[in-house]
Amino acid sequence: MDVSNILDPLNDAQRAAVSAAAGTRLVLAGAGSGKTRVLVHRIAWLIKVEQVPPWSLLAVTFTNKAAREMRTRIEEMLDHPVGGMWVGTFHGLAHRFLRAHWQDAGLPQHFQILDGDDQFRLIRRILKALELDESNWPPRQVQSFINKQKDEGLRPDHLDTAGDFYLQKMTTLYREYEQARTRGGLLDFADLLLCAHELLRDRKDILHHYQTRFSHILVDEFQDTNAIQYAWLRLLSGSNDNLFAVGDDDQSIYGWRGARVENIQLFQRDYPQAQLVRLEQNYRSTGTILKAANALIAHNPTRLGKNLWTEDGEGEPIRHYAAFNEVDEARFVVERIRGLTTEQGYRRSECAILYRTTAQSRLFEEALINRQIPYRVYGGLRFFERAEIRDTLAYLRLLNNPDDDGAFERVINTPTRGIGERTLELLREQARGAQVSLWQAALDTIAAVALGPRATTALARFVDLIRQQTAATAELDLAETTTSVIKAAELADFYLKAKDGKGQDRVENLDQLVETAGRFRLELEDTQTDPLGAFLAHAALEAGEAQADPFEDGVQLMTLHSAKGLEFPIVFLVGLEEGLFPHSMSAEDPARLEEERRLCYVGMTRAMHQLFVTHAETRRLYGREGYPMASRFLREVPPELMEEVRGGGVSRPAAAAANPFGSAPAAKAVETGGFRLGQRVLHPKFGEGVVLSAEGQGAQARIQINFKEVGAKWLVLAYARLEAVG
Ligand code: ATP
Ligand code: MG
Repeated sequence: MDVSNILDPLNDAQRAAVSAAAGTRLVLAGAGSGKTRVLVHRIAWLIKVEQVPPWSLLAVTFTNKAAREMRTRIEEMLDHPVGGMWVGTFHGLAHRFLRAHWQDAGLPQHFQILDGDDQFRLIRRILKALELDESNWPPRQVQSFINKQKDEGLRPDHLDTAGDFYLQKMTTLYREYEQARTRGGLLDFADLLLCAHELLRDRKDILHHYQTRFSHILVDEFQDTNAIQYAWLRLLSGSNDNLFAVGDDDQSIYGWRGARVENIQLFQRDYPQAQLVRLEQNYRSTGTILKAANALIAHNPTRLGKNLWTEDGEGEPIRHYAAFNEVDEARFVVERIRGLTTEQGYRRSECAILYRTTAQSRLFEEALINRQIPYRVYGGLRFFERAEIRDTLAYLRLLNNPDDDGAFERVINTPTRGIGERTLELLREQARGAQVSLWQAALDTIAAVALGPRATTALARFVDLIRQQTAATAELDLAETTTSVIKAAELADFYLKAKDGKGQDRVENLDQLVETAGRFRLELEDTQTDPLGAFLAHAALEAGEAQADPFEDGVQLMTLHSAKGLEFPIVFLVGLEEGLFPHSMSAEDPARLEEERRLCYVGMTRAMHQLFVTHAETRRLYGREGYPMASRFLREVPPELMEEVRGGGVSRPAAAAANPFGSAPAAKAVETGGFRLGQRVLHPKFGEGVVLSAEGQGAQARIQINFKEVGAKWLVLAYARLEAVG
């Protein structure tokens, strides 16, 4: 039997793990050491060599995407499809299991899943029914209380509430929630796991069936399992001695969602026979990136400890850019991506921008759009596609042009002002008949008193609002106009009252829109006469065109949490500022700070060839201008691994250019070949230009020139043949 394609691409330690005899194993190893690869190859090995039928295999991955990739890889190696294998996330597998056993679990056949938003809404309804004040019982808090209990496997009856008023009330709410949920035939995410667990626990016959069926259970990213997931695994494996778990305690980043890194220690206690496998060679990153990541994570006091090495060369230094502000940060990143893709041959999809919070994506999106570089944002809507942004823009569109029917339809009853579908239908008919816009039809209908008094008043109020705002904002700039409209239409209130739990986010996005509008005005040419029109066109184009379709080669944008398990040749880790990363919510709590550091470790270890880290010296966040300190994580990386990148476009005040590391030793100086930033130079081929920035020393020293004729280019200083002009 030829197993070379399964074993050859592995090192000795990996090969031993892949081809090991049955038995419980824990592969505990650092980032990029091939844990996922080992898992995938082990499955192929089991099917091909051990003749394990695919339906006897259960494999747990962290995302559905990872599950699909795993299946594809296995089928490639085996050269045939593998039906019947259970591969998926914990939630996906539990769902599959419960669908098969809905009767045993006492569920309706077509039970539905209650997602986070639905859950939040249901909780608010319950609070209202119980006449509890939301300010005393914040629905978010109730929601996380309930989910936390479920993640620990606790139903309301398990809770000991003796004497504790708060706990009593919460438990009552939990109980009410459970009743409402059950009446509706619904399961929330935590229920999927909990019900699946309870069914196995309480029904020996079913448990026996699955214990017999699954001869091998494999788990990736084991460090992020929660209590109930671990309990579920233990039941399924029983005394079969067949668990194969891989993980890295340094990459546990879901503690805030109930994951328990202690499960790694528990595992070793619960399975004393388990063989511990260590993998120490990293195949992903350069020596420099790895050293930096190792140094960073060494600052966490509570870790199992391990070291990673690579055969790869040192590679390039980690480049650090202290941006003047958040706009400059985005400009720098996008400029670099342009250089890497047009001059160094990287594909756009090989470049990833990783950030701590979703709100950070917007500026990068804007900068990419300005440069006409396609991109993809993982998880979450693009900024200009968000409902609240579209609503506000619709108002602005009506100010710009009241005959804009799309905008009219969008906001005529947003916020709700008692204009129903019937009124709207009437307006549509009227407009069609008279060949006029909806706006005109509304004016005509009011004049003709063609509607009942309530509808007429409501419609008249809307018309007045638009007219009044048009007049009131005539002399205002874009940002002020946007603020004025948001206020007059009472949009913030509307979103905060909406029972979808996204109110606060939406209001923050409105603030961001105001900032965007303000900036847009600043960027306008003097010749621009219609700023509002230009801004709206800009927004419309941004919402549609520039987004890369899934098959187009686009820059990858995502949060650090969603980057887990992935790898990219080029990584930009942005927003490394105290308060943002580490996040302000974690600053006080040592355990959460450690989790933030692990998150940073995850981010750095995604990088294969080059890692860029950036922070901004001033940042507008949640509508306020701040002067954040550089993140402590930057200081925790040895300075000799880092190189400062300077300059580029935005002039910075002298004070802001000071060493961001405070007392830390400065990084290596940058060679500029005697040229100053801003100096005019002449190149034999590209002609005249201005020095934008410079980086590196010796053979790696490079200089960026903005040429009049051909635009910005990076040149290797040693070969640049530049002459100073003037
Ligand atoms: P993470 O902790 O980030 O999930 P991991 O330990 O799961 O990382 P993998 O993603 O499996 O690591 O592997 C990292 C990279 O190294 C992948 O590109 C993988 O293909 C490659 N790799 C792993 N083992 C080897 C090997 N023996 N030879 C060559 N390349 C390897
Ligand atoms: Mg992995």
